[in-house]
Amino acid sequence: MDLDELYQEVILDHYKNPRGAGLREPYEGESHQVNPTCGDEITLRVHVEGGEVADVSYDHTGCSISKASASVLFELVKGASVDDARARFEEFSALMSSKGLGEADEDTLEDAVAFQGVSKYPMRVKCALLGWMALKDALIRAEASVPTPGGAE
Ligand code: ZN
Repeated sequence: MDLDELYQEVILDHYKNPRGAGLREPYEGESHQVNPTCGDEITLRVHVEGGEVADVSYDHTGCSISKASASVLFELVKGASVDDARARFEEFSALMSSKGLGEADEDTLEDAVAFQGVSKYPMRVKCALLGWMALKDALIRAEASVPTPGGAE
């Protein structure tokens, strides 16, 4: 089995058995994102507790790439610090804009390296990034809604 086939297996596995799917409570930030070129849609929620992403939950309709990507995102980000979650987003979006030439770091991106090949196809890049755009947005919303400890109020 060559690397491309292995990566396809990883994506297929996440597509068939999406990790962490479904919307859950509590949550502080929610984001709805649409990818009109493919018809993918996602609603994603983050539950932030003590500077950590305690949970990521999502409701998805659309293609296999966007679905598998949301599942990989859940595995990577749940339990991570908010800073690490943002770093994973930056790393993954850099890989997706690499046009197939990016060097994926398996230590930090884990199963997300399987999407390296997707970065060669601009139409599919939007699919792979959909959940991550929702994550970024939901984290911003969560931050705005959580009162700063010891704040002026
Ligand atoms: Zn798609």
